[in-house]
Amino acid sequence: MTRLSDSFQRPLNYLRISVTDRCNLRCTYCMPSEGISLMPHEDILSYEEICIVARAAAELGIVKVRLTGGEPLVRAELTNLVAMLARIEGIDDISLTTNAVLLQCCADELKSAGLRRVNVSLDSLRSDRFQRITRVGNLDDVLGGIEAARQAGLDPVKTNTVVVRGMNDDEVLDFARLTIEDEWHVRFIEYMPFSNGKKMDHLLVPVSEMKQRIETLSKLEPSLSSGGGPARYFRLPGARGTIGFISPVSEHFCRSCNRLRLTADGKLRPCLFSDTEIDLREPLRQGAAADDIKRLIQEAASCKPEGHKLRAGITCERFMVQIGG
Ligand code: SAM
Ligand code: SF4
Repeated sequence: MTRLSDSFQRPLNYLRISVTDRCNLRCTYCMPSEGISLMPHEDILSYEEICIVARAAAELGIVKVRLTGGEPLVRAELTNLVAMLARIEGIDDISLTTNAVLLQCCADELKSAGLRRVNVSLDSLRSDRFQRITRVGNLDDVLGGIEAARQAGLDPVKTNTVVVRGMNDDEVLDFARLTIEDEWHVRFIEYMPFSNGKKMDHLLVPVSEMKQRIETLSKLEPSLSSGGGPARYFRLPGARGTIGFISPVSEHFCRSCNRLRLTADGKLRPCLFSDTEIDLREPLRQGAAADDIKRLIQEAASCKPEGHKLRAGITCERFMVQIGG
């Protein structure tokens, strides 16, 4: 097997697959109030097409895949895709990032199909605020989804909270407290200004500030990271759960970036923050051989930029909901 790496000798072993640009929520930090113009159904890769890409990627050294969206659980029969991916030799970790609204009904099936673990977006523990942030969501559905995931044995279940100043930053301590008595694994993510390039620095709460606030409870102790991703994990003394921090803006982790992204319409995106994309859909539909797909994946790897300039403000053609985080 050729180990996939980019021009800066970073090994790439992780593929994030967006399965849809549709979503049943409308989070204010992720998509504009008017919504987005949706991809025509025929532009979206079929599960068979996704698996051709995943197989080629696995032959190049990708071992982990994460399904994302939009909201991946709004795509019909997602369990079938998980089962298909689980049969690909070389892929040994399949995970899901979801808002969990629909997770109660399918957590068991997903686990049986081969899903290992799940990250759930949860930006507020207060029903009224949760609804304001998501524009339409119901907090109880999400809490029910988290419980169902645990019962199904998806492990670990982590929560992702995007901390936005003035929106939910006053809940950082409430989230941190959840980890004391119960095995909650909460992660705080710095808000990334997306798509319009406007300076949004006033909305950013740097991880250093989040930590400071949490340390008014007690000093954080480093904890072993799970999953090898960009999060740095800590624990309050004696706590059963963990607290993770992801700092794409204040201390970016480009140097250890190990990922490629596949959009729902079949573009390989080497960097979240760069609009450079390599089209796989047309070659797939014109019957490209596995070796051709592998060559395109290698081409995407070689276009991966060294890092992003988020602090200077970025303009992206896609909103986050169209990429998958
Ligand atoms: N719908 C699923 C969910 O919400 O988990 C998956 C897609 S969502 C785009 C993936 C991740 O991106 C979520 O954890 C979400 O919180 C994060 N995200 C979206 N917009 C963001 C932003 N502007 N800054 C930081 N994270 C963001
Ligand atoms: Fe949908 Fe996830 Fe974006 Fe919220 S963060 S709008 S749930 S894609």
